[in-house]
Amino acid sequence: MKKCKIITIDGPAGSGKSSVAKRVARELGFVYLDSGAIYRAVTLFLLQRSVSPNDVSKIEECLKDLDLEVKDQQIYVNGENVTEAIRSPQVDEMVSLYSALPVIRSSLLALQRELQDCQDLIAEGRDMGTVVFPDADLKIFLKADAKTRAIRRWKELMEREVDISFDDVYYQIIQRDEKDSNRELSPLIPAEDAIILDTSDLTLDEVVERVIKLVKDHIEQVKRCDA
Ligand code: C5P
Repeated sequence: MKKCKIITIDGPAGSGKSSVAKRVARELGFVYLDSGAIYRAVTLFLLQRSVSPNDVSKIEECLKDLDLEVKDQQIYVNGENVTEAIRSPQVDEMVSLYSALPVIRSSLLALQRELQDCQDLIAEGRDMGTVVFPDADLKIFLKADAKTRAIRRWKELMEREVDISFDDVYYQIIQRDEKDSNRELSPLIPAEDAIILDTSDLTLDEVVERVIKLVKDHIEQVKRCDA
């Protein structure tokens, strides 16, 4: 039986993970898992119900009513397509608070593993290589300096005509880095066996090219070992 491959790409906000993972998945014919979108969707669901991140018992109760579905790169919460709505500055601001909670992380762990569903996968997020897929075939960690990441994120928001200043975006990135890196559960850190790639001075095309080469080299190496 063919063994399915899992490639993980982790890194902080604005490191280029999503754009890179999406392109690499398309070019290699892998399925793409955007785990950040899942945490964002839960955040939106709880914000819409005005449930505070401090009210853990209410969150636990609300999660029973949550039906999350990922289909054709669109994400649905109880049947509603929230793919656009989860990218709002309000979700940006709150997502790290909700995603630090054990009740949320444990309920999403199984879902993320199920999505793999025996297909070649590129999984992108914060803890793909450390927690969700610790036995992944290849682990990549993208990093870039905070200012470069804020500029990328701000341009993306400007393209979508979101009204937000550069300073606010920069501040949010620093805040999210801080919260994601210092939380107790699944903090943002490279897996011990991850390859670290600094994307600060690279274009998207250059990062995609390097990641594809890493994946192809890995596949070749496995073939040679199996021969
Ligand atoms: O990747 P993205 O920036 O969309 O992720 C949004 C947030 O979701 C992160 O800042 C982090 O708080 C949370 N997240 C997480 N674990 C993941 C992916 C995202 O905690 N695997």
